Amino acid sequence: MDKRPFSVKERVSRLEEMAAAPLDVLVIGGGITGAGIALDAASRGLRVGLLEKQDFGAGTSSRSTKLIHGGLRYLKQGEIKLVQEVGRERTILYRNAPHIVIPEPMLLPLVKGGTYGRLATSFGLWLYDRLAGVTRKERRVMLSRGKTLQAEPLLRGDILKGGGLYIEYRTDDARLTIETMKTADQYGALCVNYAEATSFVYEDGIAVGIEAADLLGGGSYRIMARKIVNAAGPWGDLLREKDHSLTGKRLHLTKGVHLVVAQDKFPLRQAVYFDVPDGRMIFAIPRGGSTYIGTTDTDYAGSLEKPRVTREEVRYLLDAANAMFPSLRLAEGDVTSSWAGLRPLIHEDGKSPSELSRKDEIFVSPSGLITIAGGKLTGFRKMAERVVDLAGRQLEQETGRSIGGCITDRIVLSGGGFDSPESVPQAIKELTPLAVSAGLGEREVQRLVGKYGVNAGLILERAKAAVPGPGKGLAAADRLLLAEAHYAIHAEMAATIGDFFIRRTGMLLFDRPAIGKALTPVLEAFAAELGWDGEQRTRNREQFDEEYEAAVTFR
Ligand code: FAD
Repeated sequence: MDKRPFSVKERVSRLEEMAAAPLDVLVIGGGITGAGIALDAASRGLRVGLLEKQDFGAGTSSRSTKLIHGGLRYLKQGEIKLVQEVGRERTILYRNAPHIVIPEPMLLPLVKGGTYGRLATSFGLWLYDRLAGVTRKERRVMLSRGKTLQAEPLLRGDILKGGGLYIEYRTDDARLTIETMKTADQYGALCVNYAEATSFVYEDGIAVGIEAADLLGGGSYRIMARKIVNAAGPWGDLLREKDHSLTGKRLHLTKGVHLVVAQDKFPLRQAVYFDVPDGRMIFAIPRGGSTYIGTTDTDYAGSLEKPRVTREEVRYLLDAANAMFPSLRLAEGDVTSSWAGLRPLIHEDGKSPSELSRKDEIFVSPSGLITIAGGKLTGFRKMAERVVDLAGRQLEQETGRSIGGCITDRIVLSGGGFDSPESVPQAIKELTPLAVSAGLGEREVQRLVGKYGVNAGLILERAKAAVPGPGKGLAAADRLLLAEAHYAIHAEMAATIGDFFIRRTGMLLFDRPAIGKALTPVLEAFAAELGWDGEQRTRNREQFDEEYEAAVTFR
Protein backbone atom coordinates (compact mmCIF):
# COMPACT_ATOMS: atom_id res chain seq x y z
CA MET A 1 0.00 0.00 0.00
CA ASP A 2 1.25 3.51 -0.92
CA LYS A 3 1.52 5.64 2.19
CA ARG A 4 2.28 8.88 0.33
CA PRO A 5 -0.61 11.35 0.49
CA PHE A 6 -2.62 11.59 -2.73
CA SER A 7 -1.51 15.20 -2.84
CA VAL A 8 -0.91 17.40 -5.84
CA LYS A 9 2.51 18.04 -4.30
CA GLU A 10 3.37 14.38 -4.86
CA ARG A 11 2.59 14.31 -8.59
CA VAL A 12 6.17 14.68 -9.74
CA SER A 13 7.49 12.02 -7.36
CA ARG A 14 4.90 9.63 -8.80
CA LEU A 15 5.88 10.48 -12.40
CA GLU A 16 9.55 9.92 -11.51
CA GLU A 17 8.70 6.59 -9.94
CA MET A 18 6.77 5.54 -13.05
CA ALA A 19 9.73 6.44 -15.23
CA ALA A 20 12.28 4.75 -12.94
CA ALA A 21 11.39 1.13 -13.80
CA PRO A 22 9.01 -0.58 -16.24
CA LEU A 23 5.41 -0.87 -15.16
CA ASP A 24 3.32 -4.00 -15.60
CA VAL A 25 0.35 -1.94 -16.74
CA LEU A 26 0.18 1.68 -17.86
CA VAL A 27 -3.31 3.13 -18.16
CA ILE A 28 -3.91 6.17 -20.38
CA GLY A 29 -7.00 8.07 -19.24
CA GLY A 30 -8.19 8.99 -15.75
CA GLY A 31 -11.95 8.75 -16.12
CA ILE A 32 -13.96 6.07 -14.38
CA THR A 33 -12.80 3.39 -16.84
CA GLY A 34 -9.10 4.11 -16.26
CA ALA A 35 -9.57 4.46 -12.49
CA GLY A 36 -11.33 1.08 -12.37
CA ILE A 37 -8.56 -0.59 -14.36
CA ALA A 38 -5.82 0.93 -12.18
CA LEU A 39 -7.59 -0.32 -9.04
CA ASP A 40 -8.19 -3.79 -10.43
CA ALA A 41 -4.63 -4.22 -11.68
CA ALA A 42 -3.00 -2.82 -8.54
CA SER A 43 -5.16 -4.97 -6.28
CA ARG A 44 -3.89 -8.06 -8.16
CA GLY A 45 -0.36 -7.06 -7.17
CA LEU A 46 0.68 -5.53 -10.50
CA ARG A 47 2.90 -2.45 -10.79
CA VAL A 48 0.55 0.13 -12.27
CA GLY A 49 0.71 3.70 -13.56
CA LEU A 50 -2.09 5.96 -14.81
CA LEU A 51 -1.86 9.24 -16.70
CA GLU A 52 -4.69 11.73 -17.10
CA LYS A 53 -4.10 14.77 -19.30
CA GLN A 54 -6.77 16.93 -17.64
CA ASP A 55 -8.13 16.51 -14.13
CA PHE A 56 -9.38 13.08 -13.06
CA GLY A 57 -12.94 12.72 -14.36
CA ALA A 58 -12.78 15.92 -16.43
CA GLY A 59 -13.78 14.02 -19.59
CA THR A 60 -17.12 12.20 -19.75
CA SER A 61 -16.87 10.90 -16.19
CA SER A 62 -18.05 14.16 -14.63
CA ARG A 63 -20.64 14.90 -17.32
CA SER A 64 -23.10 12.01 -17.14
CA THR A 65 -26.69 11.80 -15.85
CA LYS A 66 -25.11 10.64 -12.58
CA LEU A 67 -27.16 7.46 -12.24
CA ILE A 68 -26.00 3.98 -11.43
CA HIS A 69 -28.53 2.43 -13.76
CA GLY A 70 -30.19 -0.89 -13.64
CA GLY A 71 -30.39 -0.33 -17.38
CA LEU A 72 -34.13 -0.05 -18.03
CA ARG A 73 -33.55 1.39 -21.48
CA TYR A 74 -31.37 -1.60 -22.44
CA LEU A 75 -34.37 -3.80 -21.88
CA LYS A 76 -36.17 -1.86 -24.60
CA GLN A 77 -33.19 -2.63 -26.87
CA GLY A 78 -33.32 -6.33 -25.96
CA GLU A 79 -29.90 -6.26 -24.27
CA ILE A 80 -30.82 -8.77 -21.59
CA LYS A 81 -27.25 -9.67 -20.58
CA LEU A 82 -26.38 -6.01 -20.11
CA VAL A 83 -29.41 -5.49 -17.84
CA GLN A 84 -28.32 -8.45 -15.73
CA GLU A 85 -24.74 -7.30 -15.51
CA VAL A 86 -25.43 -3.68 -14.62
CA GLY A 87 -28.03 -4.80 -12.07
CA ARG A 88 -25.41 -6.95 -10.33
CA GLU A 89 -22.83 -4.19 -10.57
CA ARG A 90 -25.21 -1.73 -8.99
CA THR A 91 -25.59 -3.98 -5.94
CA ILE A 92 -21.81 -4.31 -5.59
CA LEU A 93 -21.26 -0.57 -5.90
CA TYR A 94 -23.95 0.19 -3.35
CA ARG A 95 -22.18 -2.10 -0.90
CA ASN A 96 -18.71 -0.70 -1.59
CA ALA A 97 -19.48 3.02 -1.87
CA PRO A 98 -22.79 3.66 -0.07
CA HIS A 99 -21.95 7.33 0.49
CA ILE A 100 -22.12 8.08 -3.25
CA VAL A 101 -24.40 5.35 -4.59
CA ILE A 102 -27.83 6.01 -3.15
CA PRO A 103 -31.23 4.48 -3.96
CA GLU A 104 -33.55 6.94 -5.68
CA PRO A 105 -37.16 6.00 -6.44
CA MET A 106 -37.89 6.91 -10.05
CA LEU A 107 -41.39 7.66 -11.31
CA LEU A 108 -42.34 6.63 -14.82
CA PRO A 109 -45.57 8.49 -15.64
CA LEU A 110 -47.95 6.75 -18.04
CA VAL A 111 -49.45 9.29 -20.41
CA LYS A 112 -51.88 9.23 -23.32
CA GLY A 113 -49.87 8.65 -26.50
CA GLY A 114 -46.75 7.71 -24.45
CA THR A 115 -44.21 5.01 -25.38
CA TYR A 116 -45.84 2.26 -23.32
CA GLY A 117 -49.22 1.43 -21.88
CA ARG A 118 -49.87 0.25 -18.35
CA LEU A 119 -49.52 -3.46 -19.04
CA ALA A 120 -46.33 -3.19 -21.04
CA THR A 121 -44.77 -0.90 -18.40
CA SER A 122 -45.85 -3.17 -15.57
CA PHE A 123 -44.39 -6.21 -17.34
CA GLY A 124 -41.25 -4.33 -18.43
CA LEU A 125 -40.50 -3.14 -14.90
CA TRP A 126 -41.30 -6.58 -13.48
CA LEU A 127 -38.88 -8.22 -15.91
CA TYR A 128 -36.28 -5.55 -15.24
CA ASP A 129 -36.52 -6.15 -11.48
CA ARG A 130 -36.00 -9.88 -11.99
CA LEU A 131 -33.11 -9.51 -14.45
CA ALA A 132 -31.35 -6.81 -12.47
CA GLY A 133 -31.72 -8.80 -9.24
CA VAL A 134 -33.61 -6.03 -7.47
CA THR A 135 -34.36 -6.85 -3.81
CA ARG A 136 -37.95 -7.57 -2.85
CA LYS A 137 -38.46 -4.28 -1.03
CA GLU A 138 -37.17 -2.27 -3.98
CA ARG A 139 -39.39 -3.93 -6.60
CA ARG A 140 -41.59 -1.80 -8.80
CA VAL A 141 -45.00 -0.55 -7.73
CA MET A 142 -47.67 0.41 -10.25
CA LEU A 143 -49.62 3.53 -9.27
CA SER A 144 -53.11 4.81 -10.07
CA ARG A 145 -53.49 8.22 -11.66
CA GLY A 146 -54.36 9.73 -8.27
CA LYS A 147 -51.38 8.16 -6.50
CA THR A 148 -49.07 9.25 -9.32
CA LEU A 149 -50.20 12.85 -8.92
CA GLN A 150 -49.79 12.52 -5.19
CA ALA A 151 -46.20 11.36 -5.69
CA GLU A 152 -45.51 14.23 -8.08
CA PRO A 153 -48.14 16.99 -8.14
CA LEU A 154 -46.30 18.97 -10.84
CA LEU A 155 -47.09 16.35 -13.52
CA ARG A 156 -49.46 17.29 -16.32
CA GLY A 157 -52.82 15.90 -15.15
CA ASP A 158 -54.88 15.95 -18.36
CA ILE A 159 -52.81 13.30 -20.16
CA LEU A 160 -51.81 11.27 -17.11
CA LYS A 161 -53.09 7.70 -16.83
CA GLY A 162 -50.99 6.41 -13.91
CA GLY A 163 -47.37 5.57 -13.20
CA GLY A 164 -44.73 3.02 -12.32
CA LEU A 165 -42.31 3.56 -9.44
CA TYR A 166 -39.00 1.71 -9.60
CA ILE A 167 -35.56 2.08 -8.07
CA GLU A 168 -32.59 3.75 -9.70
CA TYR A 169 -29.42 4.73 -7.83
CA ARG A 170 -27.98 8.20 -8.01
CA THR A 171 -24.30 8.96 -7.79
CA ASP A 172 -21.78 11.73 -8.18
CA ASP A 173 -19.77 10.57 -11.19
CA ALA A 174 -16.73 12.79 -10.57
CA ARG A 175 -16.58 11.73 -6.93
CA LEU A 176 -17.02 8.07 -7.85
CA THR A 177 -14.02 8.50 -10.15
CA ILE A 178 -11.86 10.22 -7.52
CA GLU A 179 -12.80 7.71 -4.79
CA THR A 180 -11.88 4.85 -7.14
CA MET A 181 -8.62 6.61 -8.03
CA LYS A 182 -7.79 7.15 -4.35
CA THR A 183 -8.46 3.48 -3.67
CA ALA A 184 -6.19 2.51 -6.57
CA ASP A 185 -3.57 4.78 -5.00
CA GLN A 186 -3.95 2.99 -1.66
CA TYR A 187 -3.19 -0.26 -3.48
CA GLY A 188 0.00 1.28 -4.86
CA ALA A 189 -1.10 2.43 -8.35
CA LEU A 190 0.80 5.56 -9.42
CA CYS A 191 -1.95 7.89 -10.69
CA VAL A 192 -1.21 11.41 -11.91
CA ASN A 193 -3.47 14.08 -13.38
CA TYR A 194 -2.43 16.81 -15.85
CA ALA A 195 0.06 14.40 -17.45
CA GLU A 196 -0.43 13.54 -21.11
CA ALA A 197 0.69 10.46 -23.01
CA THR A 198 2.03 12.23 -26.12
CA SER A 199 3.47 9.34 -28.17
CA PHE A 200 4.22 5.65 -28.05
CA VAL A 201 7.65 4.05 -27.80
CA TYR A 202 8.04 0.91 -29.93
CA GLU A 203 10.43 -2.02 -30.02
CA ASP A 204 10.06 -4.36 -33.00
CA GLY A 205 6.60 -2.95 -33.68
CA ILE A 206 5.42 -3.55 -30.10
CA ALA A 207 4.35 -0.59 -27.93
CA VAL A 208 6.67 -0.83 -24.93
CA GLY A 209 6.24 2.61 -23.46
CA ILE A 210 5.09 6.17 -23.91
CA GLU A 211 6.48 9.67 -23.79
CA ALA A 212 4.62 11.71 -21.19
CA ALA A 213 4.40 15.46 -20.68
CA ASP A 214 3.75 16.96 -17.27
CA LEU A 215 1.31 19.73 -18.19
CA LEU A 216 1.70 21.49 -14.83
CA GLY A 217 5.41 21.23 -14.08
CA GLY A 218 6.61 21.11 -17.68
CA GLY A 219 8.79 17.98 -17.32
CA SER A 220 8.82 15.09 -19.76
CA TYR A 221 9.17 11.41 -18.98
CA ARG A 222 9.67 8.17 -20.83
CA ILE A 223 7.56 5.54 -19.11
CA MET A 224 8.03 1.91 -20.05
CA ALA A 225 5.32 -0.69 -19.55
CA ARG A 226 4.70 -4.34 -20.41
CA LYS A 227 1.02 -3.60 -21.14
CA ILE A 228 -0.46 -0.29 -22.23
CA VAL A 229 -4.19 0.27 -21.89
CA ASN A 230 -6.01 2.97 -23.80
CA ALA A 231 -8.89 4.04 -21.55
CA ALA A 232 -9.16 7.47 -23.11
CA GLY A 233 -12.95 7.45 -23.64
CA PRO A 234 -13.86 9.93 -26.40
CA TRP A 235 -10.14 10.38 -27.14
CA GLY A 236 -9.66 6.64 -27.66
CA ASP A 237 -9.51 6.81 -31.47
CA LEU A 238 -6.93 9.60 -31.35
CA LEU A 239 -4.62 7.26 -29.45
CA ARG A 240 -5.33 4.39 -31.83
CA GLU A 241 -4.51 6.78 -34.66
CA LYS A 242 -1.17 7.60 -32.98
CA ASP A 243 -0.61 3.86 -32.73
CA HIS A 244 -1.46 3.48 -36.46
CA SER A 245 -4.14 0.97 -35.48
CA LEU A 246 -7.33 2.90 -36.18
CA THR A 247 -8.89 0.25 -38.38
CA GLY A 248 -12.18 -1.65 -38.18
CA LYS A 249 -14.57 -0.42 -35.50
CA ARG A 250 -14.51 3.25 -34.60
CA LEU A 251 -15.98 5.48 -31.95
CA HIS A 252 -19.22 7.32 -32.55
CA LEU A 253 -19.43 10.31 -30.23
CA THR A 254 -22.81 11.58 -29.15
CA LYS A 255 -23.38 14.63 -27.00
CA GLY A 256 -25.66 14.75 -23.97
CA VAL A 257 -26.64 17.93 -22.19
CA HIS A 258 -28.07 18.56 -18.70
CA LEU A 259 -29.57 21.74 -17.27
CA VAL A 260 -29.84 22.71 -13.60
CA VAL A 261 -32.73 24.81 -12.27
CA ALA A 262 -33.16 26.05 -8.68
CA GLN A 263 -35.69 24.07 -6.60
CA ASP A 264 -37.93 27.11 -6.14
CA LYS A 265 -38.35 27.31 -9.94
CA PHE A 266 -38.73 23.55 -10.35
CA PRO A 267 -39.91 22.19 -6.97
CA LEU A 268 -39.82 18.55 -8.01
CA ARG A 269 -40.54 16.14 -5.14
CA GLN A 270 -39.71 12.97 -6.92
CA ALA A 271 -37.29 11.93 -9.71
CA VAL A 272 -39.22 11.40 -12.95
CA TYR A 273 -38.27 9.61 -16.20
CA PHE A 274 -40.69 10.91 -18.80
CA ASP A 275 -41.65 10.83 -22.47
CA VAL A 276 -40.67 13.64 -24.81
CA PRO A 277 -42.85 14.37 -27.87
CA ASP A 278 -40.06 13.19 -30.25
CA GLY A 279 -40.21 9.66 -28.79
CA ARG A 280 -37.16 9.94 -26.51
CA MET A 281 -37.24 9.90 -22.73
CA ILE A 282 -35.52 12.25 -20.31
CA PHE A 283 -34.93 12.54 -16.57
CA ALA A 284 -35.81 15.28 -14.10
CA ILE A 285 -33.99 14.65 -10.83
CA PRO A 286 -34.05 16.67 -7.62
CA ARG A 287 -30.63 17.18 -6.02
CA GLY A 288 -29.84 19.39 -3.03
CA GLY A 289 -31.43 22.75 -3.64
CA SER A 290 -31.79 22.13 -7.41
CA THR A 291 -33.43 19.96 -10.03
CA TYR A 292 -31.56 18.81 -13.12
CA ILE A 293 -33.01 17.84 -16.47
CA GLY A 294 -31.43 15.71 -19.17
CA THR A 295 -30.36 14.43 -21.46
CA THR A 296 -30.07 15.05 -25.16
CA ASP A 297 -28.40 12.55 -27.51
CA THR A 298 -27.03 13.98 -30.76
CA ASP A 299 -24.10 13.22 -33.05
CA TYR A 300 -21.01 15.24 -32.18
CA ALA A 301 -17.88 16.37 -34.00
CA GLY A 302 -16.59 19.45 -32.11
CA SER A 303 -14.00 20.04 -29.35
CA LEU A 304 -13.46 16.97 -27.16
CA GLU A 305 -12.15 18.95 -24.21
CA LYS A 306 -14.82 21.63 -24.18
CA PRO A 307 -18.22 20.51 -25.42
CA ARG A 308 -20.68 23.40 -25.00
CA VAL A 309 -24.41 23.53 -24.40
CA THR A 310 -26.24 25.26 -27.26
CA ARG A 311 -29.35 27.46 -27.12
CA GLU A 312 -31.20 24.89 -29.19
CA GLU A 313 -30.44 22.17 -26.61
CA VAL A 314 -31.61 24.43 -23.80
CA ARG A 315 -34.85 25.06 -25.68
CA TYR A 316 -35.36 21.32 -26.34
CA LEU A 317 -34.95 20.34 -22.67
CA LEU A 318 -36.99 23.26 -21.31
CA ASP A 319 -39.78 22.60 -23.83
CA ALA A 320 -39.81 18.95 -22.76
CA ALA A 321 -39.96 19.87 -19.06
CA ASN A 322 -42.64 22.52 -19.64
CA ALA A 323 -44.73 20.01 -21.62
CA MET A 324 -44.72 17.46 -18.78
CA PHE A 325 -44.78 19.98 -15.91
CA PRO A 326 -46.88 22.79 -17.44
CA SER A 327 -47.15 25.00 -14.36
CA LEU A 328 -43.40 25.65 -14.44
CA ARG A 329 -43.05 27.81 -17.56
CA LEU A 330 -39.28 27.49 -17.37
CA ALA A 331 -37.23 29.94 -19.44
CA GLU A 332 -33.54 30.12 -20.29
CA GLY A 333 -33.00 32.64 -17.49
CA ASP A 334 -34.04 29.99 -14.94
CA VAL A 335 -31.09 27.76 -15.79
CA THR A 336 -28.51 28.16 -13.02
CA SER A 337 -25.92 25.78 -14.45
CA SER A 338 -25.40 23.13 -17.13
CA TRP A 339 -22.98 20.57 -18.49
CA ALA A 340 -22.38 18.75 -21.74
CA GLY A 341 -20.72 15.34 -22.08
CA LEU A 342 -19.65 13.04 -24.88
CA ARG A 343 -20.61 9.37 -25.01
CA PRO A 344 -17.75 7.31 -26.45
CA LEU A 345 -19.98 4.75 -28.19
CA ILE A 346 -18.97 2.20 -30.80
CA HIS A 347 -20.21 3.05 -34.29
CA GLU A 348 -22.83 0.82 -35.91
CA ASP A 349 -23.87 1.58 -39.48
CA GLY A 350 -27.37 3.01 -39.91
CA LYS A 351 -28.13 3.45 -36.20
CA SER A 352 -29.25 6.75 -34.66
CA PRO A 353 -27.47 8.08 -31.52
CA SER A 354 -30.14 6.71 -29.16
CA GLU A 355 -30.10 3.28 -30.83
CA LEU A 356 -26.35 2.74 -30.49
CA SER A 357 -25.43 0.05 -27.99
CA ARG A 358 -23.85 1.13 -24.69
CA LYS A 359 -21.91 -2.15 -24.55
CA ASP A 360 -18.15 -2.03 -24.05
CA GLU A 361 -15.63 -3.74 -26.30
CA ILE A 362 -11.92 -4.44 -26.11
CA PHE A 363 -9.65 -4.07 -29.15
CA VAL A 364 -6.05 -5.29 -29.22
CA SER A 365 -3.92 -3.62 -31.87
CA PRO A 366 -0.96 -5.28 -33.66
CA SER A 367 1.34 -3.22 -31.40
CA GLY A 368 -0.25 -4.84 -28.34
CA LEU A 369 -2.09 -1.65 -27.31
CA ILE A 370 -5.25 -2.68 -25.45
CA THR A 371 -8.17 -0.30 -26.05
CA ILE A 372 -11.41 -0.39 -24.07
CA ALA A 373 -14.27 1.47 -25.71
CA GLY A 374 -17.95 2.10 -25.06
CA GLY A 375 -19.56 1.11 -21.77
CA LYS A 376 -21.15 2.93 -18.88
CA LEU A 377 -20.19 4.41 -15.56
CA THR A 378 -22.31 1.70 -13.93
CA GLY A 379 -20.35 -1.16 -15.47
CA PHE A 380 -16.85 0.22 -14.89
CA ARG A 381 -15.78 -2.44 -12.39
CA LYS A 382 -16.70 -5.29 -14.69
CA MET A 383 -15.10 -3.54 -17.68
CA ALA A 384 -11.90 -3.23 -15.64
CA GLU A 385 -12.04 -6.90 -14.71
CA ARG A 386 -12.25 -7.91 -18.38
CA VAL A 387 -9.31 -5.67 -19.34
CA VAL A 388 -7.09 -6.84 -16.50
CA ASP A 389 -8.02 -10.49 -17.08
CA LEU A 390 -6.78 -10.06 -20.64
CA ALA A 391 -3.63 -8.13 -19.70
CA GLY A 392 -2.98 -10.60 -16.88
CA ARG A 393 -3.23 -13.62 -19.21
CA GLN A 394 -0.80 -12.00 -21.62
CA LEU A 395 1.61 -11.17 -18.79
CA GLU A 396 1.42 -14.74 -17.51
CA GLN A 397 2.28 -16.08 -20.95
CA GLU A 398 5.07 -13.59 -21.53
CA THR A 399 6.70 -13.64 -18.09
CA GLY A 400 5.65 -16.94 -16.53
CA ARG A 401 4.38 -15.02 -13.50
CA SER A 402 1.15 -16.08 -11.90
CA ILE A 403 -1.42 -13.29 -11.62
CA GLY A 404 -4.43 -13.56 -9.34
CA GLY A 405 -8.10 -13.11 -10.14
CA CYS A 406 -10.23 -10.03 -9.70
CA ILE A 407 -11.10 -9.03 -6.13
CA THR A 408 -12.62 -5.60 -6.65
CA ASP A 409 -16.14 -6.78 -5.83
CA ARG A 410 -14.86 -6.98 -2.24
CA ILE A 411 -12.89 -3.73 -2.19
CA VAL A 412 -14.59 -0.92 -0.31
CA LEU A 413 -13.92 2.35 -2.10
CA SER A 414 -12.30 5.27 -0.32
CA GLY A 415 -14.91 6.90 1.94
CA GLY A 416 -17.19 3.85 1.79
CA GLY A 417 -16.07 2.17 5.01
CA PHE A 418 -19.46 2.04 6.76
CA ASP A 419 -20.69 -1.09 8.57
CA SER A 420 -23.40 -1.35 5.89
CA PRO A 421 -25.28 1.03 3.57
CA GLU A 422 -28.07 1.18 6.16
CA SER A 423 -25.63 2.48 8.80
CA VAL A 424 -24.83 5.72 6.94
CA PRO A 425 -27.47 7.74 8.90
CA GLN A 426 -26.01 6.42 12.17
CA ALA A 427 -22.51 7.45 11.05
CA ILE A 428 -23.86 10.95 10.36
CA LYS A 429 -25.27 11.08 13.89
CA GLU A 430 -21.96 9.94 15.34
CA LEU A 431 -20.03 12.65 13.48
CA THR A 432 -22.43 15.41 14.52
CA PRO A 433 -20.85 16.15 17.96
CA LEU A 434 -17.52 16.73 16.19
CA ALA A 435 -19.28 19.11 13.78
CA VAL A 436 -20.98 20.92 16.64
CA SER A 437 -17.64 21.37 18.39
CA ALA A 438 -16.43 22.99 15.14
CA GLY A 439 -19.41 25.37 15.20
CA LEU A 440 -21.27 23.38 12.50
CA GLY A 441 -24.43 21.25 12.50
CA GLU A 442 -25.93 17.98 11.26
CA ARG A 443 -26.83 19.51 7.88
CA GLU A 444 -23.17 20.10 7.12
CA VAL A 445 -22.31 16.56 8.23
CA GLN A 446 -24.95 15.17 5.89
CA ARG A 447 -23.56 17.16 2.99
CA LEU A 448 -19.97 16.14 3.79
CA VAL A 449 -20.78 12.44 4.25
CA GLY A 450 -22.71 12.52 0.95
CA LYS A 451 -19.48 13.60 -0.75
CA TYR A 452 -16.59 12.15 1.22
CA GLY A 453 -18.18 9.30 3.19
CA VAL A 454 -16.21 8.31 6.29
CA ASN A 455 -13.44 10.72 5.25
CA ALA A 456 -15.79 13.56 6.23
CA GLY A 457 -14.38 13.15 9.75
CA LEU A 458 -10.92 14.20 8.53
CA ILE A 459 -12.35 17.41 7.06
CA LEU A 460 -14.33 18.16 10.20
CA GLU A 461 -11.25 17.64 12.37
CA ARG A 462 -9.41 20.21 10.32
CA ALA A 463 -12.32 22.64 10.37
CA LYS A 464 -12.38 22.31 14.15
CA ALA A 465 -8.68 22.94 14.63
CA ALA A 466 -7.60 26.55 14.27
CA VAL A 467 -6.54 26.44 10.62
CA PRO A 468 -3.07 27.89 10.35
CA GLY A 469 -2.48 30.53 7.73
CA PRO A 470 -5.33 31.96 5.71
CA GLY A 471 -8.15 30.34 7.74
CA LYS A 472 -7.34 31.77 11.17
CA GLY A 473 -10.13 33.62 12.96
CA LEU A 474 -12.76 32.79 10.32
CA ALA A 475 -16.40 31.84 10.83
CA ALA A 476 -17.15 28.10 11.06
CA ALA A 477 -18.59 27.81 7.52
CA ASP A 478 -15.50 29.47 6.06
CA ARG A 479 -13.17 27.23 8.06
CA LEU A 480 -15.08 24.25 6.69
CA LEU A 481 -14.67 25.52 3.14
CA LEU A 482 -10.92 25.89 3.63
CA ALA A 483 -10.72 22.46 5.25
CA GLU A 484 -12.43 21.01 2.14
CA ALA A 485 -9.99 22.88 -0.11
CA HIS A 486 -7.06 21.56 1.93
CA TYR A 487 -8.43 18.01 1.67
CA ALA A 488 -8.94 18.41 -2.10
CA ILE A 489 -5.33 19.55 -2.58
CA HIS A 490 -3.61 17.09 -0.25
CA ALA A 491 -5.83 14.01 -0.35
CA GLU A 492 -7.50 14.26 -3.78
CA MET A 493 -4.82 15.80 -6.01
CA ALA A 494 -6.86 18.91 -6.89
CA ALA A 495 -4.50 21.19 -8.80
CA THR A 496 -6.78 24.09 -9.76
CA ILE A 497 -9.77 25.89 -8.30
CA GLY A 498 -11.79 24.44 -11.19
CA ASP A 499 -10.95 20.94 -9.95
CA PHE A 500 -12.29 21.98 -6.55
CA PHE A 501 -15.46 23.82 -7.58
CA ILE A 502 -16.44 21.45 -10.41
CA ARG A 503 -15.30 17.89 -9.69
CA ARG A 504 -14.37 17.60 -5.97
CA THR A 505 -17.39 19.50 -4.59
CA GLY A 506 -19.79 19.88 -7.56
CA MET A 507 -20.49 23.45 -6.46
CA LEU A 508 -20.49 24.89 -9.98
CA LEU A 509 -23.25 22.47 -10.94
CA PHE A 510 -25.47 22.35 -7.89
CA ASP A 511 -24.59 25.27 -5.63
CA ARG A 512 -23.39 27.96 -8.00
CA PRO A 513 -24.60 30.98 -5.99
CA ALA A 514 -22.31 29.94 -3.12
CA ILE A 515 -19.24 30.29 -5.36
CA GLY A 516 -19.46 34.09 -5.26
CA LYS A 517 -18.40 34.18 -1.62
CA ALA A 518 -16.15 31.12 -1.74
CA LEU A 519 -14.08 32.02 -4.79
CA THR A 520 -11.52 34.40 -3.27
CA PRO A 521 -10.80 32.41 -0.08
CA VAL A 522 -10.41 29.17 -2.08
CA LEU A 523 -8.15 30.87 -4.63
CA GLU A 524 -6.05 32.28 -1.77
CA ALA A 525 -5.88 28.87 -0.09
CA PHE A 526 -4.70 27.17 -3.31
CA ALA A 527 -2.19 29.97 -3.94
CA ALA A 528 -0.79 29.70 -0.39
CA GLU A 529 -0.63 25.87 -0.38
CA LEU A 530 0.89 25.60 -3.85
CA GLY A 531 3.08 28.71 -3.76
CA TRP A 532 1.51 30.36 -6.81
CA ASP A 533 2.88 33.69 -7.98
CA GLY A 534 0.60 36.47 -9.25
CA GLU A 535 0.65 35.16 -12.80
CA GLN A 536 -0.31 31.61 -11.79
CA ARG A 537 -3.09 32.96 -9.63
CA THR A 538 -4.45 35.06 -12.50
CA ARG A 539 -4.20 32.17 -14.98
CA ASN A 540 -6.05 29.85 -12.63
CA ARG A 541 -8.78 32.39 -12.04
CA GLU A 542 -9.16 33.05 -15.77
CA GLN A 543 -9.39 29.33 -16.56
CA PHE A 544 -12.10 28.91 -13.96
CA ASP A 545 -13.98 31.99 -15.20
CA GLU A 546 -14.03 30.38 -18.65
CA GLU A 547 -15.51 27.14 -17.26
CA TYR A 548 -18.00 29.11 -15.20
CA GLU A 549 -19.07 31.05 -18.26
CA ALA A 550 -19.52 27.83 -20.25
CA ALA A 551 -21.88 26.49 -17.57
CA VAL A 552 -24.17 29.52 -17.62
CA THR A 553 -24.15 30.88 -21.17
CA PHE A 554 -25.42 29.23 -24.33
CA ARG A 555 -24.74 29.93 -27.98
P1 FAD B 1 -13.66 9.64 -19.82
O1 FAD B 1 -14.31 9.94 -18.54
O2 FAD B 1 -13.88 10.62 -20.92
O3 FAD B 1 -12.12 9.49 -19.52
C1 FAD B 1 -11.14 9.44 -20.53
C2 FAD B 1 -10.01 10.33 -20.08
O4 FAD B 1 -8.86 10.13 -20.90
C3 FAD B 1 -10.32 11.81 -20.17
O5 FAD B 1 -10.39 12.35 -18.86
C4 FAD B 1 -9.18 12.39 -21.00
O6 FAD B 1 -8.74 13.65 -20.55
C5 FAD B 1 -8.12 11.33 -20.87
N1 FAD B 1 -7.16 11.30 -21.96
C6 FAD B 1 -7.41 11.35 -23.29
N2 FAD B 1 -6.27 11.30 -24.01
C7 FAD B 1 -5.26 11.23 -23.10
C8 FAD B 1 -3.84 11.18 -23.23
N3 FAD B 1 -3.22 11.18 -24.43
N4 FAD B 1 -3.09 11.14 -22.10
C9 FAD B 1 -3.68 11.13 -20.88
N5 FAD B 1 -5.03 11.20 -20.73
C10 FAD B 1 -5.81 11.23 -21.81
N6 FAD B 1 -23.31 6.04 -17.55
C11 FAD B 1 -23.98 5.56 -16.47
O7 FAD B 1 -23.68 4.48 -15.98
N7 FAD B 1 -25.02 6.25 -15.91
C12 FAD B 1 -25.46 7.43 -16.41
O8 FAD B 1 -26.37 8.06 -15.86
C13 FAD B 1 -24.81 7.93 -17.58
N8 FAD B 1 -25.24 9.06 -18.16
C14 FAD B 1 -24.56 9.60 -19.20
C15 FAD B 1 -24.98 10.80 -19.74
C16 FAD B 1 -24.23 11.44 -20.72
C17 FAD B 1 -24.70 12.73 -21.28
C18 FAD B 1 -23.04 10.84 -21.18
C19 FAD B 1 -22.21 11.54 -22.18
C20 FAD B 1 -22.63 9.61 -20.69
C21 FAD B 1 -23.38 8.97 -19.70
N9 FAD B 1 -23.01 7.74 -19.16
C22 FAD B 1 -23.69 7.21 -18.10
C23 FAD B 1 -21.83 7.02 -19.67
C24 FAD B 1 -20.59 7.28 -18.80
O9 FAD B 1 -20.55 8.60 -18.36
C25 FAD B 1 -19.34 6.97 -19.61
O10 FAD B 1 -19.45 5.67 -20.14
C26 FAD B 1 -18.07 7.04 -18.79
O11 FAD B 1 -18.00 8.21 -18.00
C27 FAD B 1 -16.85 6.96 -19.70
O12 FAD B 1 -15.71 7.00 -18.90
P2 FAD B 1 -14.27 6.87 -19.53
O13 FAD B 1 -13.33 6.80 -18.40
O14 FAD B 1 -14.26 5.75 -20.50
O15 FAD B 1 -14.07 8.20 -20.37
